[in-house]
Amino acid sequence: MRSGADSDDESLCPKPHNEGLPAALVNCDTLFATQREQLCVNPISTSDQGVDFKNVRVETPALETVSAAYRRLHESWDAARDKQARRAVFDEWDALRRRLASWEALTRLRFDQETKNAERKAAREYLDELSPKLTALETQMQRAILASPHRSDLEDELGSHLFALWEADVAAFAPAIEAGLTEEARLEAQYTELIAGAELQIDGKRVNLAGIEPYAQSTDRDMRHHAQRIRHEFFASHGADLDRIYDELVHVRHAMARKLGFADFTGLGYKRMHRVDFDQSDVERYRDQVARYIVPIATEIMQRRAKALGITDLAYWDEPLTSPSGNPTPKGDHDWIVARGREALGQVHPEVGNFYAMMIERGLVDLKNREGKAGGGYCTGFPDYGVPFIFANFNGTHGDVHVLVHEMGHAFQDWKSRKLPAYDYLTPTYESAEIHSMSIEYLCAPFLEHFFGPDAARYRRQQLEEAMTFLPYGVAVDHFQHLVYARPDASAAERHHMWKQMEARYMPWRRYGNLEYWDKGALWQSKEHIYHVPFYYIDYTLALCCALQFWVRSRKDYNSAVADYVALCARGGEAPFKDLVRSANLASPFDDGALAAVAGEAQTALAV
Ligand code: ZN
Repeated sequence: MRSGADSDDESLCPKPHNEGLPAALVNCDTLFATQREQLCVNPISTSDQGVDFKNVRVETPALETVSAAYRRLHESWDAARDKQARRAVFDEWDALRRRLASWEALTRLRFDQETKNAERKAAREYLDELSPKLTALETQMQRAILASPHRSDLEDELGSHLFALWEADVAAFAPAIEAGLTEEARLEAQYTELIAGAELQIDGKRVNLAGIEPYAQSTDRDMRHHAQRIRHEFFASHGADLDRIYDELVHVRHAMARKLGFADFTGLGYKRMHRVDFDQSDVERYRDQVARYIVPIATEIMQRRAKALGITDLAYWDEPLTSPSGNPTPKGDHDWIVARGREALGQVHPEVGNFYAMMIERGLVDLKNREGKAGGGYCTGFPDYGVPFIFANFNGTHGDVHVLVHEMGHAFQDWKSRKLPAYDYLTPTYESAEIHSMSIEYLCAPFLEHFFGPDAARYRRQQLEEAMTFLPYGVAVDHFQHLVYARPDASAAERHHMWKQMEARYMPWRRYGNLEYWDKGALWQSKEHIYHVPFYYIDYTLALCCALQFWVRSRKDYNSAVADYVALCARGGEAPFKDLVRSANLASPFDDGALAAVAGEAQTALAV
């Protein structure tokens, strides 16, 4: 997470809707072969060497061929006479899903790499159009197996979590909402293009939104204000469009929810997030805990920051600067950071270091910021090839180290669990997935000298402060969306008022000064997740509570904490959140006292 107050450049990771992976068609002439025996499992997926990104190739599927493959799968399932035969059908289907997921991941990635490339945009539009139809085929197969008297044949071998996930999928989809899904994807792409298209002038340079960040962290207060003013103007000038896109998204989501039998979108949103072992009331209690235990600490941090900066009127543009001498920055550029990453991550665990080296050697990263590239950062993956990919936008701030280490945590989990037998287990549900990424940030803390030199201690302090200021922001983003979807017909002004209420409750220190548009309650429009993945954001805060527990443990017994971390990564998503957390010897964030305990440790370390 980043500068807690705002987190505008928070990575959207893992990429929503990306489950995965891959398809390499080694020895297969056609991607979606019409002959069943040609639907082979990509042998590369079991490789321990990885594969070069340039060799990741996925053919574009045609609906007819995928439909035909599904017809055969249904027939085979019905014809299967024993456990072994049913497992064979499952494996064949699983390989198809990995292949389709790889195509989806690659198509989205290529668009994000060059949003202005017409060919890539057209490919992305084709994907958006085809996706709901593929989901329909997938859900139909899930329904068939869920209703089958023989489902226990699979359950015995693969566990019951798979079926809980499928039940969520089935509840979240019906052919009647296909058009709604396509419309939703179209609106999401509009938001991406609008944000990626930002061309801002600052200090004689033309930059995109990510390129503004270094100026927003300047030690010169006027420059910080100037930088936020420029960002503010961009959002204010597109405010009407951002309101419209969101309004249409809310309505299309609400309509889909109603068609599926939900009272409003919130229930559907939770199913989409595959929340099988906690619900809205758990989340509500958790938010209350943040308000009770964390908001006072965050407020104290902000007050102390103002004092250190020698100002009495701490404003929004001051929040990103964590110390009067400036935020610690990495002591080198992109190539230097990438090289130091090998040393730092190797010290966390040799296996992590070797994996990192493979990612770099294989070209499985795209970290440089450039014009036309989509914003944010994320980890995606090509399950057919068994390799992940990291997308980011370096900008010269400490955020570069943050995003690299964070996404490497996702990528390492992706790699460690790539051989799990079910596609659904490759990527955990998001609140679990963020544990892998956020925990490695804290496990890497003792080795940050590699990136920050003598400023590493200051960075560690900042990291902890940001955890405390991020938690209130994170739950505000979550709470806001619950309010929005409960009242889908609210006006744009009413939505802005809802956000103001959230800021008052969770960020009472927040002052926007002359940033009038944001002062009216519009800052949420810069948060990509609100547009792209409803209800995702709370997952960062739940995972952070777990990551902070790893931090506490690592200070007492580093090796045992890392061993549990590596073991957790290897489990991928084979179990629901609370099970995974328990198996890593952590307390569930929903347990009374879990959040208060880490807050207490952080408070002591920060001596607030
Ligand atoms: Zn992440």
